[in-house]
Amino acid sequence: MQTADAVIIGGGCMGTSVLYHLAVRGCTDVVLLEADALASGSTSKAAGGIRLQHADELNTRVTLRSLEEFTRFEELTGTPIGFKQVGYLFILDNDADMAFFRAASEQQQRLGIPTEVLGPEAAREHVPGLDLTGVVGATFCPLEGYATPEAVAQGYAVAARALGSRIRVGERVIRILTEKDRVIGVETATGVISTEVVVMAAGVNSTELAAPLGFELPVIGEARTIYFTSETAGVPDDAPLVIDFTSAFYFHREGNGLIFAGPHRELEDLSGRATARLPAIADVPIERSWWGFYEMSPDHNAMIGRAPIEGLFYAAGFSGHGFMQSPAVGEYLAELVLGLKPTLDLSSFSADRFAGGGSRREHFII
Ligand SMILES: Cc1cc2nc3c(=O)[nH]c(=O)nc-3n(C[C@H](O)[C@H](O)[C@H](O)COP(=O)(O)OP(=O)(O)OC[C@H]3O[C@@H](n4cnc5c(N)ncnc54)[C@H](O)[C@@H]3O)c2cc1C
Repeated sequence: MQTADAVIIGGGCMGTSVLYHLAVRGCTDVVLLEADALASGSTSKAAGGIRLQHADELNTRVTLRSLEEFTRFEELTGTPIGFKQVGYLFILDNDADMAFFRAASEQQQRLGIPTEVLGPEAAREHVPGLDLTGVVGATFCPLEGYATPEAVAQGYAVAARALGSRIRVGERVIRILTEKDRVIGVETATGVISTEVVVMAAGVNSTELAAPLGFELPVIGEARTIYFTSETAGVPDDAPLVIDFTSAFYFHREGNGLIFAGPHRELEDLSGRATARLPAIADVPIERSWWGFYEMSPDHNAMIGRAPIEGLFYAAGFSGHGFMQSPAVGEYLAELVLGLKPTLDLSSFSADRFAGGGSRREHFII
C-alpha cells in the first residue's frame, strides 16, 4: 500500500501551485496525480492574462496577492515565465459600462492600484491602430499584463519536486475513497494511495470526481478558442492586453505576432468585431488556433475550500480567470490543509454559498 500525507488531483496551475505552497511550508510527503501531462488542461490553453480589474473586490485582492508571486516567480522557483507587465486596456462603448468600470477603478485605487479612467484619445495612445468609433472611454492599469501559464505550472512542479514532492503524470484518479465521511485514499489504474487529505484541482473534471461522494461542485466546461497570427497588425511590442468589453474581443502581442480571442463559437462571428476595432488585423494571416475549456461556476466566481467530507479540499470553477489567481489560491489551500492562519482569507469563495440559492456574481468576465 502506498501512502502520502496528501494527494493532489490535477497538474494544472492550481494543483501545482498547491503542491509548491505545501512544499515550501515543509509538507513534502505529497503526491500530485495528473491524468495526462502537466498543464495539459485549461492551463496551457489560456491567454495568460493577469488583471486586477474585477468587479468583485475579492478577485482584485486575489490577483494582487498573486502578482507579488508572479513578479518574483523566477527568483522563487528558478523558472522564467515571460511576464510582460504592460497593463490591460478595457475599451467601453456605453455609459452604463463606463459607470461600472469607474466604480471598480475607485475600488482598486482604494487598494493602492493605479487604475486610470481614460477618454478615447488617451486610449488610442496605447495602441495607435485602434478604431475607437462609438467608444465613450476606457480604463487602464499598468500593473497588469500576461505571462506563460504552462511555464508557471512547470515552475511550481520543478520547485516542489526539488523539495521532495512527488509528481506522477499519465495517472488518472478513478475515484476518491472515503469511509464514514472521511477521506482514506484515492484509486488509480495502478492501485490505491492511502491518504487522509485530497485536494481536487481537476478543472472541468472536478464535478465528476466530487459527485460520487454526494458533494456537489458545479463546473460546466465552455469551449473557447484562441487564434495566433504570425504578424503584429502594427500592435507595438509593449502594447497592453486590449479588451473590447461589449464584444469581449481581446488581443495581446505574442512573440512576433498576436493572439486574439472572444467568446464567439465561430471565427466569422468574432472577425466582424475584431476588424472593426483593429482594422489591420484583417490583413494578417492566422497561423494556428487552439481551444480549451473555461471552467464556469454558476456565478462566475471560483469555488475554493473544504468539502463536507473530512480531508477533502477543492479549487475549481475559475470561470476563465484561474491562471491569474493560481498563486494566491495555492497559498490559501496549502494553509487550509496545514491548519495555518490564511494570508488572504478566501473562505467566502466556499461552494457552500450556493446552498439555499446564494451566490456572489463576478461581472467582468471576458
Ligand atoms: C482560451 C482560454 C483562455 C484563458 N485565458 C485566461 C487568462 O488570460 N487569464 C486567466 O487567469 N485564465 C485564463 N483562462 C482560464 C484558465 O486557463 C483556468 O482558469 C486555469 O487554467 C484553471 O487551472 P486548473 O489547474 O484549475 O485547471 P486545468 O488547467 O484544467 O488542470 C486540471 C488538470 O487536472 C487533470 N485531471 C482531470 N481529471 C483528473 C483525474 N481524474 N485524475 C488526474 N488528473 C485529472 C487534467 O488533465 C488537467 O491537467 C483561460 C482559459 C481558456 C480555455
